[in-house]
Amino acid sequence: MAAGGSTQQRRREMAAASAAAISGAGRCRLSKIGATRRPPPARVRVAVRLRPFVDGTAGASDPPCVRGMDSCSLEIANWRNHQETLKYQFDAFYGERSTQQDIYAGSVQPILRHLLEGQNASVLAYGPTGAGKTHTMLGSPEQPGVIPRALMDLLQLTREEGAEGRPWALSVTMSYLEIYQEKVLDLLDPASGDLVIREDCRGNILIPGLSQKPISSFADFERHFLPASRNRTVGATRLNQRSSRSHAVLLVKVDQRERLAPFRQREGKLYLIDLAGSEDNRRTGNKGLRLKESGAINTSLFVLGKVVDALNQGLPRVPYRDSKLTRLLQDSLGGSAHSILIANIAPERRFYLDTVSALNFAARSKEVINRPFTNESLQPHALGPVKLSQKELLGPPEAKRARGPEEEEIGSPEPMAAPASASQKLSPLQKLSSMDPAMLERLLSLDRLLASQGSQGAPLLSTPKRERMVLMKTVEEKDLEIEFRSRQHPQMPRSTS
Ligand code: ADP
Ligand code: MG
Repeated sequence: MAAGGSTQQRRREMAAASAAAISGAGRCRLSKIGATRRPPPARVRVAVRLRPFVDGTAGASDPPCVRGMDSCSLEIANWRNHQETLKYQFDAFYGERSTQQDIYAGSVQPILRHLLEGQNASVLAYGPTGAGKTHTMLGSPEQPGVIPRALMDLLQLTREEGAEGRPWALSVTMSYLEIYQEKVLDLLDPASGDLVIREDCRGNILIPGLSQKPISSFADFERHFLPASRNRTVGATRLNQRSSRSHAVLLVKVDQRERLAPFRQREGKLYLIDLAGSEDNRRTGNKGLRLKESGAINTSLFVLGKVVDALNQGLPRVPYRDSKLTRLLQDSLGGSAHSILIANIAPERRFYLDTVSALNFAARSKEVINRPFTNESLQPHALGPVKLSQKELLGPPEAKRARGPEEEEIGSPEPMAAPASASQKLSPLQKLSSMDPAMLERLLSLDRLLASQGSQGAPLLSTPKRERMVLMKTVEEKDLEIEFRSRQHPQMPRSTS
């Protein structure tokens, strides 16, 4: 059995590695720093939260069918054999008396720091409708959930880390979408219609056209989030008066730009996801549109189950593309993120079958291995050709004389980025000078010579490229002249070439 177990473990590792490759580590050679280093694995963390009885009369007459055993395990009656219980162990178990702060501090807060390392993280609330997903993620003004707490901390963290004088400048943006009947809808711009999910050459999942709002304070966040939440598609089912029939996805991006050389940039994405209910629609009494909605929701969740199984079994094909939800989660499950799944369950007997199925899904999910990597590259202006100023070529004393409008062209195209130093920039002129230092010396000599002869022309080193090419052609000719003159005036510096 041990051998079989380790083979399965190897297959899982391989599946995680290939999923990481699929999701981009190393597929695109373009400027992904450190992508060649194999990132250490990080298992999807799974927590289970049991909510208290919400109906005041229940509890005494309807004893709970789930019982916590310790901070990681719980047991539930075995429907096949009433003498036995089914036992489950997770990374954390939060009982009915646990607070919002317990869940946040115990399972969510620890992964936030990865965002500032340029890594992705995601928190998913799973479970049947009415089991407490929205309470866990959103909460209420009196009992704020994971989303407001995470935003509060993240914004505070980015303010501290990005303060002036610190090595990185930080900015945060938010997007908010829902997947409803396999359509991706922008909650910050409800008129935008169904959006397409794409993958870039680095394996990052993105949604072109999705609104992205910069936020620098919690008030900014609320200003966008609260009205958008009201745009969510909600309907009533027999299970829950305000049951959500859609998957709500809040995406928070932390963008970092290094202020000094080597001018790296990093992007960390945080997904905070309130999934639609995992209940079996045959028991909710859904009809017509509601049944159609449940069907679509269950398709997405069914594919989510298949994705988890494929990752666990090391199958070569992971069916991420079979639903919008799994396509979106491609870099969160078996991909590049630090992920935590919070399975919400209810104590009432009528939830029993949905609770068992949610626990089984949670137990399978904890076998999934991710390989988070740092999403780091060079800032665009540090890669592209940048014109060097005379100041940078000539050094400090000459620079004072050469200060002029040319310097404005050197400024970074990115408002937050600091200008690159001469050593980082790759201009054709710099290449020329580094290939042949003697040539630079000769040009300087020629410049001085022309100036001393009262030439009207601009100094060669600040001449536009087109004219410079012409001038370069004449350098050899002029060089002969310099040689000739230097023979006549031996104190003049001579070319070494
Ligand atoms: P879901 O989003 O999974 O459908 P909700 O979050 O809407 O479920 O929860 C259903 C009801 O139970 C709501 O009235 C909610 O306030 C309440 N509830 C859920 N979890 C808790 C909890 N841990 N403590 C107190 N009330 C809770
Ligand atoms: Mg809900």
